[in-house]
Amino acid sequence: MREQQDIVVIGGGQAGLAMSRVLQRQGREHVVLERGRVGERWRTERWDSLRFQFPNWTVQLPDYTYQGPDPEGFARYREILRFLEDYAGHAAAPVREHTEVRGLTALAGDEGFELSLADASIHARNVVLATGPFQLPRIPDLAHQVPRSVMQLDPTRYRSPETLPEAYAGFLAAARDFIQRSGEDEPTEADPGEPEPLPGVQEVESLNLVDEGITTIIWATGYTYDYGWVRIPVFDARGRPAQQHGVTAVPGLYFLALHWMHTFKSGLLSGVGDDAEFLVDRMSRGRQE
Ligand SMILES: Cc1cc2nc3c(=O)[nH]c(=O)nc-3n(C[C@H](O)[C@H](O)[C@H](O)COP(=O)(O)OP(=O)(O)OC[C@H]3O[C@@H](n4cnc5c(N)ncnc54)[C@H](O)[C@@H]3O)c2cc1C
Repeated sequence: MREQQDIVVIGGGQAGLAMSRVLQRQGREHVVLERGRVGERWRTERWDSLRFQFPNWTVQLPDYTYQGPDPEGFARYREILRFLEDYAGHAAAPVREHTEVRGLTALAGDEGFELSLADASIHARNVVLATGPFQLPRIPDLAHQVPRSVMQLDPTRYRSPETLPEAYAGFLAAARDFIQRSGEDEPTEADPGEPEPLPGVQEVESLNLVDEGITTIIWATGYTYDYGWVRIPVFDARGRPAQQHGVTAVPGLYFLALHWMHTFKSGLLSGVGDDAEFLVDRMSRGRQE
């Protein structure tokens, strides 16, 4: 028999956990489906030296705040992961790990949604997509032209300089050499003022990677969405969710933790709780209407 749920939250990162907590407060039955483990992207897609960009006192989710000894410090990414694991335990979030949603379709006649899993399906009245503001690295097409001898990485797979081929040092040397040949000295210290245009520095139109001794490229060229498995027409021409404050034109379908849903903080750890409260409120009102 097909499983029935009132609310399914897809994604067990900070957004899915925050949503779960707020739903629990309202006594709303739900389940959180996570394809990996809680906080999967903080677990497997961050690099060793990454620190949280805001002070520890901002590390907070609904009903839970940073409790460590250094509120003015900046956490390493593993500490953020630990915070999320602790939060999931504290909130007793009903997370099903290792449960990937492979397909999402809307049933006819506002009957809710069908979620296809590897070996089962779930029927849900409401679905919240909390699968992240940064889903897939955006790699430019020219990556296909890069010789096979050059290692290509993106921020989800880069870990530390030590894990790169020895020629990483060669890359740094080549970059330094390029700056010098362009007629500029290497910067010796950070310039706090407005950056001046560099006279004599030309935009690079072509670069022979092999000749320059470059063996590694880390594409730090942004992220894009990965909603190929959502078979519901709620996306604009560029594949971005069509939503207002997370509410879509399809009754019962919501997005959480995208950029600027309400404010700059919508896609950040400290802001997602407020947006989750808004969605739960909308969901409750939708039920009464
Ligand atoms: C490099 C980097 C650094 C960042 N630094 C900061 C920072 O310092 N401060 C800050 O506030 N924010 C930061 N952010 C922004 C934001 O906090 C993170 O992107 C955060 O991970 C978003 O949490 P989330 O729960 O919305 O999404 P995610 O963490 O992306 O979680 C989404 C979850 O959904 C799961 N999932 C995806 N698809 C499916 C599916 N089909 N079925 C089941 N599960 C699925 C994923 O496995 C994942 O666990 C950073 C982001 C990046 C990329």
